[in-house]
Amino acid sequence: MAAHFDVAVVGLGAMGSAAVAHLAFRGVKVIGIDAYYPAHALSSSHGDSRLIRLGYFEDPSYVPLLLRAYVNWRALEARLREDILTITGVLQIGKPDSKIVSGTRESCNVHDLPLETLGPDEMRRRFPVFSLDEDEVALLDPQGGYLRPKAAVMGYLKLAAADGAALHFGEKVTAIEPGDNGVTVVSATGRYTAAKVIVATGSWIGELVPALRDHAVPIKQVVAWYQPTDGFVTQPQRMPVFIRDEGDNGSFFGFPAIGVDGVKVGRHAHFREPIDPNQPNPAVNERDTNLLDSFIRHRLPAAAGLRVRSTTCRYTMLPSEDFLLDLLPGDRRIVVASPCSGHGFKFTSVVGEILADLALDGGTDLPIDAFSFEAMERFSRPA
Ligand SMILES: Cc1cc2nc3c(=O)[nH]c(=O)nc-3n(C[C@H](O)[C@H](O)[C@H](O)COP(=O)(O)OP(=O)(O)OC[C@H]3O[C@@H](n4cnc5c(N)ncnc54)[C@H](O)[C@@H]3O)c2cc1C
Repeated sequence: MAAHFDVAVVGLGAMGSAAVAHLAFRGVKVIGIDAYYPAHALSSSHGDSRLIRLGYFEDPSYVPLLLRAYVNWRALEARLREDILTITGVLQIGKPDSKIVSGTRESCNVHDLPLETLGPDEMRRRFPVFSLDEDEVALLDPQGGYLRPKAAVMGYLKLAAADGAALHFGEKVTAIEPGDNGVTVVSATGRYTAAKVIVATGSWIGELVPALRDHAVPIKQVVAWYQPTDGFVTQPQRMPVFIRDEGDNGSFFGFPAIGVDGVKVGRHAHFREPIDPNQPNPAVNERDTNLLDSFIRHRLPAAAGLRVRSTTCRYTMLPSEDFLLDLLPGDRRIVVASPCSGHGFKFTSVVGEILADLALDGGTDLPIDAFSFEAMERFSRPA
């Protein structure tokens, strides 16, 4: 007979590991299953750094979730006695009317968040690694910084196990079968029944959630690391994390020299090239590195020494570039978490709470109306 659980969580990347930890902490009998091993390189939740910021340029409505995410990140650190979140401040650079600058300003105004405006002269004095055009500004959000993704995923799994969760790795789930006495989760080696199932399978989400097959598109994301020519100005004390609006050339992000590899940069969504989640990540090519080399030479000259490393990772985009966190239409026992369109990691700690609420209560007090199947369909429908 299949083992029975209150909740089964399929996929233990950022979102699934946080969910399984929140559920185990609440005393729920929960199993988490992943096809691979924690924080593996084919997931979107590995490595050493993910940006977090509070004045969210995308939309002010994200800010209440971010405020909760900060509280939950600190709670995770307290339980683990480990640093997961480091505050460096975040600079949001661009022309005053660019989306990143104007959107950040709006978010901060709406939510009364502190924000400093710096012109090119002041930037040269305070943060000399950055090169600004004379008509650009930088907004300093003092509460921005970076998270350690691998440590967060491992930490959540460690706490989940300590709180009694069953965790299975190297076990791919092949089917989720709703039935009269619960939902059956089928893998190559086991069958489990659960009252509720959370599906958080990242770039593979379309395999188990057909409703997302045509919407969730995995794409190639490339990041590269550079040795600075002036190491002093790239230290986290002198170089906040940043995002930069380059108009028609998209937006770039970067981190100070956190580890031995130096300064990391990438362009959000890179060239938007779709990839097959069941193939190894495509190799970094010359077009990829040319893009990042020319950006760093132009915008952060003191960081543009030797490129020592580059890698491909996965974003999985919805058409709205938003999140989806909802009960599956047609079977409210199944909770779906999309991989969050390349900007979800910072929300992991609150998404875990939301997924636990949705599984246990069928709803949440946290504001997620914009992340429903209905909202996704509305966005995708021709006007
Ligand atoms: C290079 C890069 C930079 C980023 N930068 C930022 C940033 O600065 N700030 C930010 O907020 N966000 C950032 N993001 C986005 C963020 O990292 C993702 O939104 C987040 O990691 C997605 O997590 P996930 O748990 O949904 O997916 P994943 O991490 O991909 O986890 C899904 C898991 O499901 C498992 N799985 C899949 N199919 C099955 C199956 N059938 N059975 C069992 N298990 C299965 C997989 O093995 C995997 O472990 C970045 C992403 C990348 C790639």
